[in-house]
Amino acid sequence: MSERIVRQTGDEILRKHSKTVTELTDRLKELIKDMKDTMKTHGGCGLAAVQVGVLKRIIICAPEEEKEAVVLINPEIVSMSDETEIDSEGCLSVDGYRGNVARPKNIVVKAKDENMNDIEFDADGFFARIICHEVDHLDGILYTDKVVPGTLKDVTEEENVKEE
Ligand SMILES: [Zn+2]
Repeated sequence: MSERIVRQTGDEILRKHSKTVTELTDRLKELIKDMKDTMKTHGGCGLAAVQVGVLKRIIICAPEEEKEAVVLINPEIVSMSDETEIDSEGCLSVDGYRGNVARPKNIVVKAKDENMNDIEFDADGFFARIICHEVDHLDGILYTDKVVPGTLKDVTEEENVKEE
């Protein structure tokens, strides 16, 4: 198990655009493993490579705690429902805070899987929310940029909150 340091808001790397992955090198495979370990350690349900300081378009999503995280390489949201849902979000890079964000209810995602095979699938609800949050990270966007005004709250006192 190998954990990496999660970059925190204020670190300028979080505002940079991540680069497309053209080849899944051993280094990137190692990175994906470390991302899974890091996410687990912090009790998160999603993580983007940039959050551990690597500007590559790789995200992992774990909408269900007991299941293995879904790895998405070069993810793209190709369509989204007009209908949105407002729900609470947190982020491992914005430690100790949560806020409400509107996200599309349903999305269609195109990506490459862990073996660089092309995949396309529908996601909705919480899973869609995580993917939107993580894809934003790849473009230097944090959920705090989109938070419903007045809903960003310090939750340091609350325990066991899930963070993306
Ligand atoms: Zn995040």
